[in-house]
Amino acid sequence: VSAGEGRTERLAASVAEHELDVLLVGGAVDVRYLSGFTGTNGLVLVGAEPEQAPRFYTDFRYATQSVEQVPEPFVREVVAIELLEAAVAGLESDSMGVDGAGRGGAGVKGAGVRRLGFDETALTVKQHRRLRELLPDGWELTGVSGLVGALREVKDSVEVARIRAAAALADQALGEVLEQGVVGRTEREVAVALEFAMRRLGAQAPSFPSIVAAGEHSALPHAEPRAVEIPPDTLLTIDWGAQLEGYCSDSTRTYATGTLSEEQREVYELVRRAQAQAQAALKAGPSGREIDAVARAIIEEAGHGEHFGHGVGHGVGLEIHEAPRLSRTASEQPLRAGNVVTIEPGVYLPGRFGVRIEDLVVVGEDGGEALNGLPKELIEVA
Ligand code: ZN
Ligand code: ZN
Repeated sequence: VSAGEGRTERLAASVAEHELDVLLVGGAVDVRYLSGFTGTNGLVLVGAEPEQAPRFYTDFRYATQSVEQVPEPFVREVVAIELLEAAVAGLESDSMGVDGAGRGGAGVKGAGVRRLGFDETALTVKQHRRLRELLPDGWELTGVSGLVGALREVKDSVEVARIRAAAALADQALGEVLEQGVVGRTEREVAVALEFAMRRLGAQAPSFPSIVAAGEHSALPHAEPRAVEIPPDTLLTIDWGAQLEGYCSDSTRTYATGTLSEEQREVYELVRRAQAQAQAALKAGPSGREIDAVARAIIEEAGHGEHFGHGVGHGVGLEIHEAPRLSRTASEQPLRAGNVVTIEPGVYLPGRFGVRIEDLVVVGEDGGEALNGLPKELIEVA
């Protein structure tokens, strides 16, 4: 499947909406999303008019790869000079030169000036300086952010299928590792076994370094696996994901390695309830802030508000953390059908134990559907 059915057209509409003439896209993931190019050195120019062919620039190392990956209508150029220099030269090319008047527009200050947008979160200060040096007369630079990211938030069916496949692979890998037994092995051994299993099953890579954290270590939301044996009769948190065809999965399960205390069971059930309620509330319409509040209210009511210090979830796609965010400080924009987000409340009692349960969910008009599938009731592992 070629990447980007309709993506550059939708981006062109957004470029026009932002009163830009051309957008320069340089972030590797954004370039991949638009063009299909998986190399590390590529630039894309997209004009505001849909009939302007998007332009793609790379260097000699990617000559063959870019022909295979970057489809029409992209105008491909393999250049021997700096990509920025080539892209700026491309502004004056036939395909970008359609609308000579510029978006500055009549009656607006700076009328006739043409605007080149760049992603201010992706360009370095040095690249920005270089771009200013290179920019031809009659053009000005305008920093924008998240134009491609806004498109990436809503996944198409091919993207959802890839994330679903990554999640299924990750579930299978964890199932195999749990069958081999985890108590008495070190956290690091289990993490390595899990990552090896994902690779063996066809993952390109883990989508992030796996978290395997037992006992008091599970109280750290971002625990690094230690060379410490997993003891019996405690909680074990595993947060893991696979990357497949560029797309990431992300889920978390917390297990009992034997008999738990009453308090540990209560906290587990609390987190499970908060997770289930937040997931049940997920659909097109509510904001990420509202979904966060559903889980947070339940955890606060149980007296553990201060032990849930992170947001309830985040978008997942080509990147493990992307828009939209689901947190106290997230935007109040409604979530949309096609968003793929995690729902992952947790309660962390410092120095004692922690519980997190995380599902990866595709948002629909009337509800969410989990893309991962391991059970969420408390399970004892040996
Ligand atoms: Zn996770
Ligand atoms: Zn996550």
